[in-house]
Amino acid sequence: MSYFRDNIEQLTGYSPGYQPRGGDVVKLNTNENPYPPSPAVIEAIRGFDPEKLRRYPQPLADDFRSAAAKLLGVSAGNIMATNGGDDLLTIAVRSFCGPGRALAYPVPTYSLYPVLAKIQDCPAVEVPFDGDFNLPAALADASAALTIVCNPNAPTASFVQPAEIEKLARRLEGKGVVLVDEAYVDYAPANCIGLVKSCGNVIILRSLSKGYSLAGLRFGYAVANEGLIDGMMKVKDSYNVDAIAIAAATAAITDRKYFQTNIDRIKSQRTILTESLRGLGFELRDSSTNFLPARCPDGNASDMHQKLAKRNIYVRYFNLPGLTDKLRITVGTEEQNRRLVDALNELIRK
Ligand SMILES: *Cc1c(COP(=O)(O)O)cnc(C)c1O
Repeated sequence: MSYFRDNIEQLTGYSPGYQPRGGDVVKLNTNENPYPPSPAVIEAIRGFDPEKLRRYPQPLADDFRSAAAKLLGVSAGNIMATNGGDDLLTIAVRSFCGPGRALAYPVPTYSLYPVLAKIQDCPAVEVPFDGDFNLPAALADASAALTIVCNPNAPTASFVQPAEIEKLARRLEGKGVVLVDEAYVDYAPANCIGLVKSCGNVIILRSLSKGYSLAGLRFGYAVANEGLIDGMMKVKDSYNVDAIAIAAATAAITDRKYFQTNIDRIKSQRTILTESLRGLGFELRDSSTNFLPARCPDGNASDMHQKLAKRNIYVRYFNLPGLTDKLRITVGTEEQNRRLVDALNELIRK
């Protein structure tokens, strides 16, 4: 007999990327930003009034909401702050899905989605992308209660145009909600914020983990019309983001200059690293994210992954259908990328 519900007993939980404990490592395995957060964030944390820790934080993270609303040209009622983007995914699945109320998404994609569906005990409808990673038409046919489109997508680094997502949302109007997971949008050519006003069934997910160098802070947010936000507010924990995180996240999104410089640096490193990898015989498409899915010259990514790890260079390997020949490499600093390329060069030439 198990103490757990059947679906939990049978579940294989989500497995996060390896987090080495420090030392001289090149860590390019979990798509973190290689540069530090804005000095304004450090200042907000250092200057934090301890009295505010004695009290509960703002339940709706008002300071952050106002700053995010101003930044995006929406109102505060269109924003819900969450404990990382993953918290929003949990809230959305709990809000919209259940037995007979499916979660649909194109695959391959973020491996957390099926885990959330299993926990919620709702059907998961997985619709394959086509060879060019366009949105599959069958996605709308599923008429799921919640459809998640990760855009740019992980682990493919591909991007679909907002107009395509708008078409999907329109076909699902009155049937289900479309959540656009924009965790990597800071590195993409466009975004779907405009759909919040034009479609009544769209929720945008944002994260401060990737573009703002704040994966350790745990901060993300939803942008949607007030009806959807208010409904999801009923589901979230009352105090789902802490007071220090609210102060730090608000400072982060307010410092536009630092943010843009940081993103520009990563984008230019992305171009250089893409070319270097191609030069070594890796096959990869242009990326719309801060990571590069790259097919190893001999197709044996598992082996290459292990050899790199022995040299304290960590990249991600997925033992999943269609991915066993690829490494997923996060774009690092100029120095990190050079160390990776040097190591690959030696390993390939051996
Ligand atoms: C990183 C990521 C998120 C959110 O991550 P948080 O650290 O919880 O903000 C959501 N979706 C995808 C695809 C991601 O890679």
